Amino acid sequence: MEALSEFDLLRPTTLAGVLEARSAHPNSRLLGGGTDLLVNIRRGIVAPPVLIDVTGVGELRCMKADAHGLEIGACVTLTEIAGHAGVARIYPVVAQAAASIAGPTHRNMGTLGGNLCLDTRCIFYNQSEWWRQANNHCLKTTGDMCHVAPKSRGVCFATFSGDLAPALLTLGAEVDLLGPGGRRSLPLRELYIGVARHDEKATGGDGKNYLALKQGEIVTAVRARHEPGLRSAYDKVRIRRSIEYPVAGVAVALRRDGETLADLRVAITGTNPRPVLLEGTQALCGGKLDAGVFKGLDELVRDQIMSMKTTFTPGHYRRRVAGVLARRLVTRLFGQG
Ligand SMILES: Cc1cc2nc3c(=O)[nH]c(=O)nc-3n(C[C@H](O)[C@H](O)[C@H](O)COP(=O)(O)OP(=O)(O)OC[C@H]3O[C@@H](n4cnc5c(N)ncnc54)[C@H](O)[C@@H]3O)c2cc1C
Ligand code: SF4
Repeated sequence: MEALSEFDLLRPTTLAGVLEARSAHPNSRLLGGGTDLLVNIRRGIVAPPVLIDVTGVGELRCMKADAHGLEIGACVTLTEIAGHAGVARIYPVVAQAAASIAGPTHRNMGTLGGNLCLDTRCIFYNQSEWWRQANNHCLKTTGDMCHVAPKSRGVCFATFSGDLAPALLTLGAEVDLLGPGGRRSLPLRELYIGVARHDEKATGGDGKNYLALKQGEIVTAVRARHEPGLRSAYDKVRIRRSIEYPVAGVAVALRRDGETLADLRVAITGTNPRPVLLEGTQALCGGKLDAGVFKGLDELVRDQIMSMKTTFTPGHYRRRVAGVLARRLVTRLFGQG
């Protein structure tokens, strides 16, 4: 096992201090709980000379979940999100996703910001230095080819596996950013630019370049409106039930109006270089929840979920798992009293 490379650790306590540290150290990396970044440093995947720990910034720790809306600061931990009574009651998809991440100790350290900006994953990337070197590295680091898709022409298909993003996507969440140019907000789906199967035009991103953050920008919070009547839930399949990234993770939010499926949103993680909010689910609404809806849902999953071999689990299996989880969640939520 490699030794952890040397770095300086800065601990600003204000947002102004974070921006100052970022501009003074352009090659620095932000540190939330470190449960992803420190593993990658340990493996020699990255070696930032300076880490800026943002967890001491009080402005990044806001937490509100009531009948007006949801707001979670970037440094709120996964344990705090999972255990918040308002999140569990009004936005259960978010609490369930947070509770399903890694193990209890990771959740005590891991933050919303780190989870949303989680590095993409691949069996040829999440390996030790000597392992990657033995394979001549790959596009995501210093190599010149993709071992998953050798004819990919410069595109990396590493997979986004964060669990909170799909949950928040089904709520239509916005993400707040702060950088040298000031504050801005984006629909959360626009934070992710990794290519997906059904993209008609280039997104400008892939598994290597997967976030729309500008140089020096940080995530400060996510927000979502409360939508009365929206039922939501999250589920994932993983190899080890206790601690594991998703084989596939699925978030569903829907509204039922009498016997009618009035609204449906489905988002999937663990399959593509970005979390995918399925396009076309609105066309399945307006009638009963019948076999036609499930057939339509299966088709959307088939058309929009990639099956690249970036994990030990075959890609086509991950896509099937995503489809099955989506069906189960839709059935359960629609049937809730
Ligand atoms: C064994 C194991 C199992 C895991 N299982 C899962 C799982 O099932 N699901 C899952 O989603 N994750 C999993 N993880 C990954 C990780 O624990 C979580 O995703 C966690 O939420 C990451 O948050 P963090 O604060 O620790 O991130 P960090 O490691 O601190 O940061 C991750 C990345 O985000 C950047 N970053 C941090 N904060 C900000 C910010 N405010 N703005 C912009 N960029 C920022 C960092 O620079 C870094 O690039 C697992 C990790 C391990 C080791
Ligand atoms: S998808 Fe290809 S380029 Fe990307 S990490 Fe895997 S092997 Fe490397």
